[in-house]
Amino acid sequence: MTPLQSLENRLAQRRRDALYRERLCLEGAQGREVQVAGQTLLAFCSNDYLGLAADPRLQQALAEGARRYGIGAGASHLVSGHSRAHRELEEALADFTGRPRALLFSTGYMANLAVISTLAGRHQHVFQDRLNHASLLDGATLSRARLRRYPHRDLAALERMLTAVAEPAAGTLIASDGVFSMDGDRAPVAGLAKLARAHQCWLLLDEAHAFGVVGAGGRGVFSAVGRLPAEELIQVGTLGKAFGGFGAFVAGEDALIETLVQEARSYIYTTALPAAVAHALTVATGIVRSEEWRRERLVALVARFRAGAAQLGLPLPASDTPIQPLVVGGSQRALALAAALRDRGILITAIRPPTVPAGGARLRVTFSASHRDADVDRLLAALEAVW
Ligand SMILES: *Cc1c(COP(=O)(O)O)cnc(C)c1O
Repeated sequence: MTPLQSLENRLAQRRRDALYRERLCLEGAQGREVQVAGQTLLAFCSNDYLGLAADPRLQQALAEGARRYGIGAGASHLVSGHSRAHRELEEALADFTGRPRALLFSTGYMANLAVISTLAGRHQHVFQDRLNHASLLDGATLSRARLRRYPHRDLAALERMLTAVAEPAAGTLIASDGVFSMDGDRAPVAGLAKLARAHQCWLLLDEAHAFGVVGAGGRGVFSAVGRLPAEELIQVGTLGKAFGGFGAFVAGEDALIETLVQEARSYIYTTALPAAVAHALTVATGIVRSEEWRRERLVALVARFRAGAAQLGLPLPASDTPIQPLVVGGSQRALALAAALRDRGILITAIRPPTVPAGGARLRVTFSASHRDADVDRLLAALEAVW
């Protein structure tokens, strides 16, 4: 078999398993409606929770940033790619999170790789929730630390694992999604914080789906439990979801941020985020903080959807966030349901393994503040017809 033939076999197997993925091609901006192949679809699958991805104020800020700073940063942050726009955004994000400092990354994936591989090494353990995002797991692999995965949200199991490691080395780390990306439920953050404190390890909370969406002023799951951040808490946020743009950040103590600047390979060996994007995201951060009505809209949309779904007897997850997955089971059936919805003008992509566990294929329904009540009703009517 030639090398190419082996790939063709792999791809063919994927098709047989209903795991073959195809990219849609959008003709315009992200929004409650999107244009795909000449068709207008009502979309319930983006992470643009606050409806900011095409906000005219941010479009204008991006254009202004491009005029001032150009298109490319031209170098990494440590060479000459770091600009005033980056610094201002980092200050705005530190202020938003209430942490001493924030450090920008080009993506959340790279931010998670940076934190875990910089803090943990061969002699450390990294404890992770079984349903954590792939980037957290990949960070542990890259760090070469010993990865232990605990059952989803199971604090007792985590405590047993922590206790079994007699003398935790500095750099031992617990990592969890704040809001779980494919399930929409929240990490038991108060309990995680207590365990991290008791066992003297870091707590890395990935707030990708939480910042901007949950907690007072959108300040994330940790703020929602009303406790002040402890020094061992590290928060990762992404700017491509609720913030409507692109990029990510790590927020935490000064010594942590400075260590990442000095040592994190996915920070050092990569070109800085375009300054124009940073400029637009400083404006976005202000909008995320001040426009509480967007979070209130999300709460109302989620309540409307859950009430309707309960009436229809749809399998409802234990989620109070804009992520409302309808777990279908088999990948084939998830694809068929997504296709039937699309015939009715509704876009929800089927999420299949390995993004979710085997047998856990689902329609991951997400809401945006730009959705209208009538959109939810249309979604429910379509689900009733196809389920
Ligand atoms: C999306 C996501 C990331 C990655 O963020 P990007 O900026 O898109 O790379 C990390 N963690 C979680 C939980 C996510 O959902």
